[in-house]
Amino acid sequence: MDNCIFCKIAKGDIPVKKLYEDEQVVAFNDVNPQAPTHVLVIPHTHIATLNDLTHDNQYLIGHMATVAAKIAKDVGHAENGYRLVMNCNQDGGQSVFHIHMHLLSGRQMEWPPG
Ligand code: AMP
Repeated sequence: MDNCIFCKIAKGDIPVKKLYEDEQVVAFNDVNPQAPTHVLVIPHTHIATLNDLTHDNQYLIGHMATVAAKIAKDVGHAENGYRLVMNCNQDGGQSVFHIHMHLLSGRQMEWPPG
């Protein structure tokens, strides 16, 4: 998608410090962190929202969670815990329409999340 900021990050057209990358996903720090660690894991493939997942790409979410869990371990937050979040559309609070998983860690999370 030509005008998608996360497609540009995934392709390297917008430079970010990539914390992890493989053939399926890229991980980088959120520009507006909401926790001491706030990492986004995005697929290379443009998928606008969770509503656009199909059986062909359902396993991508599991891979994104596995990568997020590895990063949580790498930063030393796995034992204390962390939160993985995926927002969908307006009521979910989604602002970038290329699916992404937030890894939030390094502080006590609250519930309900608001
Ligand atoms: P969401 O509201 O779930 O769609 O999350 C989108 C996230 O992308 C927000 O937390 C933004 O701070 C983050 N974000 C937007 N643009 C960038 C960027 N260029 N680099 C890193 N994070 C970004």
